[in-house]
Amino acid sequence: MTARCVLIAGAGPVGLAAAVEFRRRGFSPRIVDAGEGPTPDDQSRALGVLPRTLDILAASGIALRMLAEGNRISRMAVTDDGRPLFEMTTTPGHTQHPFILALPQGRTERLMIEWLAAHDVEIEWGVGFQTVADTHVPRVTLSTDEIVAADIVVGADGAHSAVREDIGISWSGDGYPAGFALADVVFDRPIDPAVAKIDLRTSPGHLSGAIAMLPLGERHGRYVGIAPSTEALLGDLPGIGEVVWASRFHVSFRHAERMAKGRVFLAGDAAHVHSPVGGRGMNLGIEDAATLAFLASEDRETEYEMRRLPSVRKVMAATRQGTDFIAAPPPAALALLRVFVPVAGQTPWLRGRIADRILGLDLPPPEWLRQAG
Ligand SMILES: Cc1cc2nc3c(=O)[nH]c(=O)nc-3n(C[C@H](O)[C@H](O)[C@H](O)COP(=O)(O)OP(=O)(O)OC[C@H]3O[C@@H](n4cnc5c(N)ncnc54)[C@H](O)[C@@H]3O)c2cc1C
Repeated sequence: MTARCVLIAGAGPVGLAAAVEFRRRGFSPRIVDAGEGPTPDDQSRALGVLPRTLDILAASGIALRMLAEGNRISRMAVTDDGRPLFEMTTTPGHTQHPFILALPQGRTERLMIEWLAAHDVEIEWGVGFQTVADTHVPRVTLSTDEIVAADIVVGADGAHSAVREDIGISWSGDGYPAGFALADVVFDRPIDPAVAKIDLRTSPGHLSGAIAMLPLGERHGRYVGIAPSTEALLGDLPGIGEVVWASRFHVSFRHAERMAKGRVFLAGDAAHVHSPVGGRGMNLGIEDAATLAFLASEDRETEYEMRRLPSVRKVMAATRQGTDFIAAPPPAALALLRVFVPVAGQTPWLRGRIADRILGLDLPPPEWLRQAG
């Protein structure tokens, strides 16, 4: 069983996690990427690593290295136009890692690349997936003209997935009208690195909707929100010494109608994209990858789609709801938030539910994590 040939198209965080998880389970995966290397170190992108990702990567030992480098966020302070509304602390629940770890995407990728190199898996950069001849007995043509006979093909080649396109899986959903802005900044004095901040910005004077700040350490943080520009996002926020990376982007809410066809499987952004609200994208994709590797190790990969699609749909719906809320909070929901959540914060059960949602623990744990726990 473990001699089966696994070809992974795409070495973003999801393809790399697939390679790690297949390798750790005894396969010798081959991983190709049309690009020239990992995400540049100065582009933090998927910054929020959620507990389940750490639980998954604990088995390979990569989580330990991530924990040594990242910043642990265990509190969230919510303000309404700067006025304190409530504060949440993430409570230890059914995870060994009850916090969000802030670690730039490029570092997460490089730690996985190092682990793979130490386990005899080298990324083939500059080699793209082109086409697959038969999804039941896959023969993949690469951009080098090489033809690879694979038992399992993993399409982890991002939102514009050539794998998804080639096997004719439809991509449904729509673009979101409002644009996002983000800025990684250096503060001119130390901040509390354990506290993330969300300001709802509900007064009419603001040029943008809610804004979130995720600390990367005592001196560094990421601001992100729905805003037409970095200037509108940051406005006259005090304490910012320097903006080290800024980006504006539009998001879509789209997902593949199927996550598998024959022996070709889609994972990560190739299968689902949504807004960064809640920081779920990369984390959901890494869970796809780990689920597929686990199922393949038991010869049960045909169950993959059935196991992943419900989680994908749930996260897409929750993210859409969260995005709509921060873009234009409905007055009734806002009133509820102002009154209900501070009270709910005193109730352990409700506090646990809210913390689970923030930490992405609102999905049932995959079976191998339950087994491990
Ligand atoms: C500005 C920004 C901020 C974000 N913030 C967050 C966040 O806070 N939390 C979060 O979870 N997510 C966040 N995301 C989303 C996150 O970056 C993505 O969900 C994540 O990168 C998806 O990983 P992936 O491996 O599926 O796809 P990608 O990272 O897109 O990787 C796909 C890889 O496939 C390669 N490729 C493309 N075509 C081919 C081909 N034909 N053959 C072989 N290889 C190919 C590409 O070169 C690339 O390396 C953010 C994204 C952006 C842009």
